[in-house]
Amino acid sequence: MKVYAFPRGGIRYEDTTVPPRTSSVTAFLPGFSVIPLIQHTGPRAFPVVNIGDYVREGMLIGRGQGLGSANIHATAPGRVVNMVSWKTAADINNDALVIRLEGRFEKLGRKEDSFRWEGLSSFEIQRIIADMGIVEMEGVGAPVSDILSAFRSLSEPISMVVRCIFDDPWLAADYVLCKERFQAVLEGAFITARASRANRVIFAVSEQEKDLAGSFRTVQPPGGIEVSTVLVGSRYPQRNRRELEMVLRIYEKKEGLTLGALLILGPATLAAIHDAVKLNKPILDRYVSVGGSAVKNPQVMKVRIGTRIGEVFAECGGFIDKPKRIATGSPLLGWAVVDLDEPIIKTSFAVFALLEKQVGGGPSRGCISCGECRRVCPVGLDPEELYKWAKSSVKTSDETQGRAVECHGCGCCEAVCPSRLPLGKVIQDSALRGN
Ligand code: SF4
Ligand code: SF4
Repeated sequence: MKVYAFPRGGIRYEDTTVPPRTSSVTAFLPGFSVIPLIQHTGPRAFPVVNIGDYVREGMLIGRGQGLGSANIHATAPGRVVNMVSWKTAADINNDALVIRLEGRFEKLGRKEDSFRWEGLSSFEIQRIIADMGIVEMEGVGAPVSDILSAFRSLSEPISMVVRCIFDDPWLAADYVLCKERFQAVLEGAFITARASRANRVIFAVSEQEKDLAGSFRTVQPPGGIEVSTVLVGSRYPQRNRRELEMVLRIYEKKEGLTLGALLILGPATLAAIHDAVKLNKPILDRYVSVGGSAVKNPQVMKVRIGTRIGEVFAECGGFIDKPKRIATGSPLLGWAVVDLDEPIIKTSFAVFALLEKQVGGGPSRGCISCGECRRVCPVGLDPEELYKWAKSSVKTSDETQGRAVECHGCGCCEAVCPSRLPLGKVIQDSALRGN
């Protein structure tokens, strides 16, 4: 079977400090959960409970407020004992409700009722997804209900793309989820196809995951939906929307298909959509890759939303030595963790702690014009030139700024730069500011 890969740039990204991709371990329930009111791209959810209130597992505690905002739910039963505020590394003020565990669980460990979705309209499915606060869990947390609205307003055909591309080793948790919750991911894809009125589901699987691709090839779709499996490259950043879309357009042309608009979602989001629509359950937990050179026993964990990051590391045996860098996401694109009391949220697909030797140590040096950054940029930009432009106090070229806007912040250039210059971040920040 042909493998479709984006044509230029990218890196083979390996990291021996990620957790093994064998199976997940369920983390202990936290005595106190810290549930932030921003776990999405838009405005803070409005709290609908007060300090002192008792909340049930899965109960609405924050109501989303418009575009980009999503409902927030209690992930364990208990008493609201506090509201805390902090500033994240992304300079966002966030508030969280602190819930002390008490009372009985209504979902955990009980047989779950399942509901048939086949008779629901696309609007009814979207309403359930909005009520349950489902967001894109592999990205910045765009509410899925907003995404569905945007796609349904299009007049062109729509193809739903299941993105099972593990080009970044820190996606170990997504891989394990795909294996352990295969049926949920699959049914989540068909539910989403119905909600968005897509008539085709494409399983885009990275080439080294042949066993997963084989499982998708045996799938029997519901009536009216065509399915296909496309093997794609595993060079980073193949899962990026731009690079994935590029290879799917090549596939479309070669196969003589009309794919139309591509609705791309990952396995964690699709499993959450399944749980919302079929089990009437909001996002209570998520799979997280926990690792890095500073962590004693890296592992993939199933963690309740609201568990403090410090507790997650403690369950992995704690630290070997004082970490130099702690962050969520992947080392190429991660956000710094300011305090170990910060919680796991809907979008925390990985948390890692790195020793100085893994961070690289030492300050950045000047550019030596080696050209490595140009070689790996998948967009074909010149990161050296753009970085110098971004750092310069006199901006003379509109053309250069136009190119800077094309940077999608994949971090490939930074990963290979021998002078350890923060290329991607500086270029993107400058392009966003417009200077
Ligand atoms: S990789 Fe770093 S040192 Fe080499 S040309 Fe690019 S910016 Fe300069
Ligand atoms: S971060 Fe931007 S400039 Fe650097 S490789 Fe990626 S797209 Fe190119």
